[in-house]
Amino acid sequence: MQHPTRREVMTSVPVAAWLGAGLSGAALAQVSVAPGREGEPEQGPDVRAPGGMPGGGRGDARGSLVQRMLAQAYQNDQYHLPALPYPYDALEPHIDAETMKLHHDRHHQSYVDGLNRAISHEKQLQAGAEIDADRLAGIQRDLSFNAGGHLLHTVFWAVMGSGQDNRPMGQIAEAINAQFGSFDSFRNLFTKVAVGVKGSGWAAMMYEPVGDRLFIYQINEHDAHLAPGAIPLLPLDVWEHAYYLKYGPARAEYVQAWWNVVNWNVVDESFQWMRTRRQEAAIMTAGR
Ligand code: MN
Repeated sequence: MQHPTRREVMTSVPVAAWLGAGLSGAALAQVSVAPGREGEPEQGPDVRAPGGMPGGGRGDARGSLVQRMLAQAYQNDQYHLPALPYPYDALEPHIDAETMKLHHDRHHQSYVDGLNRAISHEKQLQAGAEIDADRLAGIQRDLSFNAGGHLLHTVFWAVMGSGQDNRPMGQIAEAINAQFGSFDSFRNLFTKVAVGVKGSGWAAMMYEPVGDRLFIYQINEHDAHLAPGAIPLLPLDVWEHAYYLKYGPARAEYVQAWWNVVNWNVVDESFQWMRTRRQEAAIMTAGR
């Protein structure tokens, strides 16, 4: 049995860099692990689709919906709020239009603004004669919180849609069955993770490229309890702002309803894209 050398693992870890979809910029570099070394792609993949608006359904020449939304999420050296790929009321009756409007236009926008602000604060701090440790700690907190919020919300919008058939298909279905036994057991586990978040946070199925595995993480706020390099495939926001207008304190009812709007087509497309990126980054896995 052949194990990857330490160097092979180290060179493959900065996943944000090989995803290269905007969020590989200054902010995620701050919360990523080892800096890139030899063996890393020279530059990120070209996922930008100038003028391309996200639509539903299958990926086309301009890339998958997740790719296109990520391309909108960072443009011209700034983070941006990507457009919702459907109208505010598209997820009714499960998620109401008013919640979607406030959540996207106000809450997500505040994370985008907070991220850009944190980056500029860090630049200002660097420009000074001496870096104040307390200010730096606050900025680091803001970077991580807002970068997590921006990435999670961008993918969250992409993986929902109206008129879904509620069951995974394609490679993601195979991977879920292989790792969790069945879709039903996956869904039960994910639901428990989501309902059990203490306070504000997320449940998220993440792609972990070193092991080519799926993980379900319970995320506090936007950024706690995450492995470096894991990429959100299917995040579910369980902050109160995501459901309180319609469901009040009944988070479990919101989570149950949310399964009706998951766009598995997009999740599968995104999973395949991530795996392709992984192959191109030549991440080594023993015994395969
Ligand atoms: Mn939110």
